[in-house]
Amino acid sequence: MHLVWWSVLGIGVSILAFLTGSCESLENEVSWTHNLQRTDLEPGSWQRRRLSAGGVGGEKAKYPVDLNHENFSKIISELDHQDVALLELYATWCPACRHFKPAYEKVGGFFDARVSSHGKKVFVARIDCANQANMKRVCDSFNIAGFPTVLFGTRQDFEQHHGEPVPGWSAEAIIRWVTSKTKTEYVEAAGDAQSGPEVTGEPPAPHDSAGARPPAEIAWTKSADLADIEAATVQGFDYIIASQTLLRQEGARRALHGWVRMLAATHPVSTCRRGSQQLALKFDEVWPDGSEVPAAALGRFRVCGRGGGIQPWRSCKGSRPDTRGYTCGVWSLLHATAAILPEDGGRAWMEAVTGYIGNFFQCAECSRHFLIRTKKQDSLDVATRRDAVLWLWRVHNEVNMRLEKVEREHGTGDPAMPKVQWPPAEVCADCRRKATDEWDEDRLYDFLLRFYGGPPPDKAPAIDKHLAAILEPMPSPPTRSTMQAKRAARRPLRNLRQQSPPRGRALSAAPPAAWS
Ligand SMILES: Cc1cc2nc3c(=O)[nH]c(=O)nc-3n(C[C@H](O)[C@H](O)[C@H](O)COP(=O)(O)OP(=O)(O)OC[C@H]3O[C@@H](n4cnc5c(N)ncnc54)[C@H](O)[C@@H]3O)c2cc1C
Repeated sequence: MHLVWWSVLGIGVSILAFLTGSCESLENEVSWTHNLQRTDLEPGSWQRRRLSAGGVGGEKAKYPVDLNHENFSKIISELDHQDVALLELYATWCPACRHFKPAYEKVGGFFDARVSSHGKKVFVARIDCANQANMKRVCDSFNIAGFPTVLFGTRQDFEQHHGEPVPGWSAEAIIRWVTSKTKTEYVEAAGDAQSGPEVTGEPPAPHDSAGARPPAEIAWTKSADLADIEAATVQGFDYIIASQTLLRQEGARRALHGWVRMLAATHPVSTCRRGSQQLALKFDEVWPDGSEVPAAALGRFRVCGRGGGIQPWRSCKGSRPDTRGYTCGVWSLLHATAAILPEDGGRAWMEAVTGYIGNFFQCAECSRHFLIRTKKQDSLDVATRRDAVLWLWRVHNEVNMRLEKVEREHGTGDPAMPKVQWPPAEVCADCRRKATDEWDEDRLYDFLLRFYGGPPPDKAPAIDKHLAAILEPMPSPPTRSTMQAKRAARRPLRNLRQQSPPRGRALSAAPPAAWS
């Protein structure tokens, strides 16, 4: 519908330009259309766009403008001192941000086409905080702990890295909030009225996958992938180190310490386990209790990973660039650590995972739901490895069920990997009882251990040897695992690297070497 409308408008503009002989202005408009393909703007170009006449056929909304660490200050400084602005801080990997994207673009389209009765604009912009440089130089200074966050403010506010969080997640709620905040009505700008989508019109066109049927043959993963688990570990640490805001939160030190100890005992990749052991052993030295956040010292630790930037996803790779990836890797990491727990390690695991997701997983909606879920009785009852494995499977399936609906509505899912109650029969034929179709938890438990590389039910590592590594506070007499960690700490890093499993190797059912 919109496309036809834009085409008609485009033809209209061309005819008008031809009749008035304003070939020059038409050329200008065409060059604008070229500029609009770019995501990052040159400083000042948004203002030039703002001054240009309305859009041409097929032109997409100019707002929200994509900012980055290089153009942020310049573009903000060019705002008129009486203008106000909305800034969305988001991350490309964050699913809640993907669901919110159409609504924010609707807000952008609305304010793009309107001015206040005094002729003032609401500038609408966004910045991708998954980019490390954007995170360090811009996002972190706004002191926000989760994505997406929309901030409202004046030029002066944003120059001082302040902004008022905007409540509400629908386009209508945000527009209403801005209108009441600025105590003004926004009217269609003369000559600019059609430069963005109408806010009261049809819902925004969904992504390609909306309503798309899953492919007949889905390439289900047959076991978790170590390379993805390692990549999610590294990326998670990178996000923590890049954000002073996360590290300054109350309880962050304890949460990070607990997480590192848990990885030291249960990470399925030997290099990550040893890297975590090194950090766990030196943690009090690196970050003494009560001291300032030692971001630089923490940043010097490479828990694992090869360096040289983010590694490509393998099993977690989406069929589109904006799906799957990091969050899939985080789930895989959590499941794998549960599968390798000592038999009585459930409670300590739960505390470490709750601390990590609650403090450091920056998808605000994800961590909020997860924390609410950890308050339920079955979460408090988690004590054994089996409890932890089945609890996480259940919670993950609850998220799958919720997202199946959300992704269908917003078209934000991956068409090649639909959300299902997992594992489907293609992945585990005997996980459900044939007669009733109910889950058979004994078989399911065996399957989950195999899939995530945990030792079989009767071969769990013994509690006395291994649990000490993940208990708070760190026990004083050295256990076998801490002595191993000390030995590993003395070994040159080169040796540890040599023991890294080949990237992409599937998990084996054998317990990690450090526990044998
Ligand atoms: C803790 C956490 C909470 C989240 N909460 C939200 C939220 O509230 N809203 C939101 O939009 N997104 C949320 N996400 C992200 C979301 O769950 C998916 O990660 C994202 O949509 C990408 O999905 P995916 O297709 O890669 O599969 P994922 O759901 O990421 O699963 C990764 C892999 O795990 C396996 N798997 C699937 N289900 C199970 C199961 N039940 N048990 C064991 N293994 C399984 C499959 O092999 C699958 O490919 C959350 C992520 C995490 C880590």
